[in-house]
Amino acid sequence: MSKENECKSGEVCPSKKTLSREEIEDLKERLALQDNLSGVKHKIIVLSGKGGVGKSTIATNIAAALSMKGKKAGLIDIDIHGPSIPKMLGLEGRPLRGSEEGMLPIDYSDNLKVISIGFILRTQNDAVIWRAPLKHSLIRQFLRDVRWGELDYLVIDSPPGTGDEPLSVIQLLEDADGAIVVTTPQDVALADVRKAITFCRQVNLPIIGVIENMSGFVCPYCGKTVDIFKSGGGQKMALEMGVPFLGKIPIEPKIVETGDSGKPYLQYYHDSETSKAFDLVITPLLALSDERKYSENVKTCMRCKE
Ligand code: ADP
Repeated sequence: MSKENECKSGEVCPSKKTLSREEIEDLKERLALQDNLSGVKHKIIVLSGKGGVGKSTIATNIAAALSMKGKKAGLIDIDIHGPSIPKMLGLEGRPLRGSEEGMLPIDYSDNLKVISIGFILRTQNDAVIWRAPLKHSLIRQFLRDVRWGELDYLVIDSPPGTGDEPLSVIQLLEDADGAIVVTTPQDVALADVRKAITFCRQVNLPIIGVIENMSGFVCPYCGKTVDIFKSGGGQKMALEMGVPFLGKIPIEPKIVETGDSGKPYLQYYHDSETSKAFDLVITPLLALSDERKYSENVKTCMRCKE
């Protein structure tokens, strides 16, 4: 029996130490999750320091942009207290379906599959009052039990801040490609986004880059740019903290309009300046190596780390 198989069987670890029941259960969970996501090439977590900076809008449009480039994309909304992705994609009220193998994500299009707690709540006004273990278990279900199949990218829209949900998803995934951190240019947003970057570093999650959203507004009447929320703060902060800067997305009234009417902006305005800004933002994602990453941690024994 190979070392790896011995460890997977949960009976003995490669160094012949017996595993406790909890260690065996934990190892089985991790292997089941990794097995379920074995067809997913890249896992990207979208984070923000604060709410309302446009994180879900960016996550939705990144997933839509990737799918429009012919990539197979999945989008997980783990914003348990404020799931907005079903509304942003016009999928509200869609019932979740199951198959013999497990839960199926909702198809927005041939190339874009979505899951959200919003599909589980009975009405949009239902409030979720859950403690951390329940949230962790829902996130684990989205990753372990939803049949994602073959995907080029799995984009995870995390709630704002550095609380239970982002921590759960990072711990469960183990091998995410990294985080995209969304901010707006004001100092109050930047203070929180610095914490989000420090959080990523503390949990060893690579940072793909920072996006400065709502950066400047081009007046449709006079063509002048007005920096309503300032501009350039996110870029400066990324430089100071030594993380890549992915680009600026301007304030665009059509983003609000399309988001409210359930259509990803990029699908409807693909030739606009804002779409060009999104193209720049997803360039590093398209450049990620196509080789599948597997977590080395899962292959080692959790007790002796061999
Ligand atoms: P978060 O996920 O950070 O809480 P949302 O994505 O829900 O933020 O966005 C909050 C609001 O801001 C939404 O109404 C959305 O349409 C709007 N919004 C996001 N980005 C932009 C932008 N670049 N220009 C204009 N409105 C935007």
